[in-house]
Amino acid sequence: MQIAIDGPAGAGKSTIAKRLASESGYIYVDTGAMYRAMALYLIRKGISADDRAGIESACEDADISIKYIDGEQNVILNGENVNSLIRTQEVSNMASASSVNGKVREKLTALQQKLASSTDVVMDGRDIGTKVLPDAEVKIYLTASVSVRAKRRYDELKAKGEACDLKVIEEEIKERDERDMTREISPLAKAADAVEVDTSDMTIEEVLAAIKKLVDEHR
Ligand code: C5P
Repeated sequence: MQIAIDGPAGAGKSTIAKRLASESGYIYVDTGAMYRAMALYLIRKGISADDRAGIESACEDADISIKYIDGEQNVILNGENVNSLIRTQEVSNMASASSVNGKVREKLTALQQKLASSTDVVMDGRDIGTKVLPDAEVKIYLTASVSVRAKRRYDELKAKGEACDLKVIEEEIKERDERDMTREISPLAKAADAVEVDTSDMTIEEVLAAIKKLVDEHR
């Protein structure tokens, strides 16, 4: 069973996918975390987001893999567990910018397809239903208004004690949406056979119930 969940930043993908996976006994694969690990590698190397050749050659040396510790996905970058380092705004922005690169996408797509080939998965990202798992049995396109998504990110960062500004977050989300939706390779899009769920006015429990219903219908 493959469940693909795509959508823009802050729509609630990871919260929903994680719960759905744990309640179904499936593996949760957060593909954004892989793009973030790649972005961290590029930042550390001092490569700028518009240095296409630099990104292409550096991405060959970034060995990214996934390890599950107490059921949680951890991303390993060249042997180092970088899970606690990839959720900053700097990494978010670099991940969005570097993920337009075809070489980066090719490498991470292959890793994602390999993970899904041997086990039941709930995988979230931007191009899962359209590109990574085109034959997924259930495809969900999760969305919400920009202001709701910005407020969710803001609350998340505040809870972690990070300094942040709601207006700045909203602008960055708009920028990321624009870049993710208009890039040439695998842009963020709703797959033709995906079901769209707008979570703006829904609680987590309501979203989860709606998606579980779709999964049960499929079963
Ligand atoms: O989902 P998350 O916010 O962690 O993703 C970070 C960035 O990685 C996104 O803004 C997007 O540009 C990129 N990404 C992608 N394809 C995916 C998952 C994430 O391009 N499947």
